[in-house]
Amino acid sequence: MGVNFLWKKIMKDKLKRDKFRTARGGYSRLLELNCRLCNSLVVKYQKDGPGSIYRLYFDRIVYPEKLVGLEKFSLKDIPSLKCPKCKEILGTPYIYKAEKRKCFRLYNGALVKNKI
Ligand SMILES: [Zn+2]
Repeated sequence: MGVNFLWKKIMKDKLKRDKFRTARGGYSRLLELNCRLCNSLVVKYQKDGPGSIYRLYFDRIVYPEKLVGLEKFSLKDIPSLKCPKCKEILGTPYIYKAEKRKCFRLYNGALVKNKI
């Protein structure tokens, strides 16, 4: 078993199950989201339910470490989402009012997704 396989297994076991997931049909998967411009990995993300990604909920970001747990911070202390390599700005922090949930609103087509 390779490290990558193990990592995937660990992450699958760690997928969050909560009311937000349930509200989206209980189906989740992990995605790698890459910068559209330079193709660098920007975040690994638990996507609940079907459909496109318009927002990245902070409580669903599992990588990188510095972006995990942002939901505990005040929105004004959170910088825009940037590509770690080319520094392109990919999204801005805001609160999704319907769920009172903090997230990045993504710029249209800023990220390209790969299923893990
Ligand atoms: Zn980039």
